[in-house]
Amino acid sequence: MTADLGAPVSVLKGIGGVREAALAKLGVRTLGDLLRCYPRDYEDRRDKRRICDLSSGARAVVRARVVSAEGGGPPFSPRGGAGGKTPSKLLVRDDTGVLEIVFFGASYLAGALKRGEEYVFYGEVSRGARCLQMVHPDFNRADEDDGRDILPVYPLSAGLRQKDLRRWIRALLESAPVAEESLPADTIAENKLCGLRYALENIHRPADMQRLREARYRLVFEELLTLQTGLLLLKGASEREGRGIAFKNAKDGADTARFTESLPFALTGAQKRTLGEIERDMESDRVMNRLVQGDVGSGKTVIAAAAMYKAVRSGRQAVIMVPTETLAKQHLEEFEKLFAPHGIRTGFLTGAIKAAERRALLEKTKKSEIDILIGTHALIQPDVVYGKLGLVVTDEQHRFGVRQRVKLSKKGFSPDVLVMTATPIPRTLAFILYGDLDISVMDERPPGRLPVITRALGADRREDAYRLVQKELSAGHQAYVVAPLIEDAADSALRSATRLYEDLSEKFRAYAVACIHGRMRQAEKDAVMDAFYAGGTDILVSTVLIEVGVNVPNATVMLIENAERFGLAQLHQLRGRVGRGGAQSYCILLTENASAEAASRARVMVSTDDGFAIAEKDLALRGPGEFFGLRQHGIPPLRIANLAKHVKVLEAVKEEAERLLADDPSLSDPKNAALRAAADALFASAADIGM
Ligand code: ADP
Ligand code: MG
Repeated sequence: MTADLGAPVSVLKGIGGVREAALAKLGVRTLGDLLRCYPRDYEDRRDKRRICDLSSGARAVVRARVVSAEGGGPPFSPRGGAGGKTPSKLLVRDDTGVLEIVFFGASYLAGALKRGEEYVFYGEVSRGARCLQMVHPDFNRADEDDGRDILPVYPLSAGLRQKDLRRWIRALLESAPVAEESLPADTIAENKLCGLRYALENIHRPADMQRLREARYRLVFEELLTLQTGLLLLKGASEREGRGIAFKNAKDGADTARFTESLPFALTGAQKRTLGEIERDMESDRVMNRLVQGDVGSGKTVIAAAAMYKAVRSGRQAVIMVPTETLAKQHLEEFEKLFAPHGIRTGFLTGAIKAAERRALLEKTKKSEIDILIGTHALIQPDVVYGKLGLVVTDEQHRFGVRQRVKLSKKGFSPDVLVMTATPIPRTLAFILYGDLDISVMDERPPGRLPVITRALGADRREDAYRLVQKELSAGHQAYVVAPLIEDAADSALRSATRLYEDLSEKFRAYAVACIHGRMRQAEKDAVMDAFYAGGTDILVSTVLIEVGVNVPNATVMLIENAERFGLAQLHQLRGRVGRGGAQSYCILLTENASAEAASRARVMVSTDDGFAIAEKDLALRGPGEFFGLRQHGIPPLRIANLAKHVKVLEAVKEEAERLLADDPSLSDPKNAALRAAADALFASAADIGM
């Protein structure tokens, strides 16, 4: 067999067609992928039990001899036969007792067990009719026991068997030279890591727990180092593309105080501090790559606007890219108001703009007759050319992938980049997720805001929730009602937006109820949102569409149906849509058959409205891959590292990545080539995030 790890898995005996497709579902396409398909768990079979010590309900390993087939009953029932549903039963014994082994509809398995031979059985013990039993245990002949008693348990997809994966990977490990070392030699030495070959052998077939730990540490380290260097390389690349722009300071005519003094309110301390950090970056000739993390409602928009004002006063153009049409329109209106007194020209570019209008707009953009452009992905189409682009802002960044961010910044000559997100990330993790960015935190809300009152209610208390909606509507306020689905689905008990819309239209006849969801045409969505902004609609029934950015200060109720279906990040974002004005606001989580995990999410929501605290809890509650939309942050999926668990490793990794890049900023030295290639590959395969 070839040792070329780039070869497709189909070169292995027994893999083709269906199994090849099943492996592809796990992201395994090449032999190299197969080697890196790490076990999700292990079965420790070293602790063999005597039969007399077994108890029902536990998994156990037993070494025993087959004493009889078909444990006393007739060999075949008259109509069952070999292929039928009649269970095959065997009795096995050791020095202390007997155990029944049962196979349903798989008599060939029983046939493989020979009377008088000794086997090792592994499985769950249950109570049988006469004695304890094991149903469908794994087994192998005792004399074949190769001492590797810690067996890997692989992730599976339909059509794959644990046995097959074990066999394929074992064959691959045994076939001569496996995988060239992927880490630089000094990285291995400095961090006392084991080599790749040793790591792969022991992650798949550990001889003992100590070796498994060494193997795992090395592979986790490698994965996080690849991620971290990948992010730092992105940052380094944008910094090396020539010097950035040194924007003017206050004395030279770019005085943001002129702008902030024109606002109807004073900036909060956090806003001032953040704007200060941004201005310092902008004035230096270094390219700015700054992330502003501000919890929902902390007032990020005006900070973005102030930075854009500074860019324009320095003779440059600025753009702001947002993830949805709705949000783009809302920003346009706000920015027109903010900038009009300053004679700054704004333009609007989204996918919905008509061709003729678009042409005219692009022409003006190219000639720098527009100062500020507001829009969606349409801003990064290849034919959009900017005259003097100096500043790029992306709002609600958690919806954009890393690559989209980079694509937009390539539109200018090393423009400064400002990224705004309302998705808080635990501080301990921010540095790796945004290894390529500096971070400002806006951890303060504008004064006079009352905290949103949050209640978690069982669905049987929906009427109580409606009474609150009624009360708020009577006071002239507006309400959001959010459902997990657009339409009723036959196989689902979940509430749908369309059903709720009908119910609520009936129930709140005196009020204007509207519905919005992702399957509506853009023009329809716009009309619905416009009416809600204008106060013409009282209740807006929606899917999670309104999660991002929407700002209607008169809305005071957020009612979430089937709240158990939403993650903490989403719930927090949804709740952030209310409490944006001076009035007391409410968030009601209606839950149906909530799992223990959903119930703890609801408790977290009731107990705090601090986005950072919620992010920490989310990290603790969820598994690794799912955490707070890592994918949405543009972070590629991780195979073995767990950002929640491996914080200590992360710290070591960060140091190592910085050391490597200080010596060799683009990792172009041959000794770093393998790491560089892995980092490039990681981000090449990281999918951009759809909308
Ligand atoms: P987010 O950070 O969630 O994007 P926004 O920028 O939409 O928040 O701001 C929320 C609301 O708070 C807006 O109506 C905005 O005008 C207002 N706002 C922003 N900063 C202040 C402030 N310092 N004082 C009072 N209101 C503010
Ligand atoms: Mg915002």
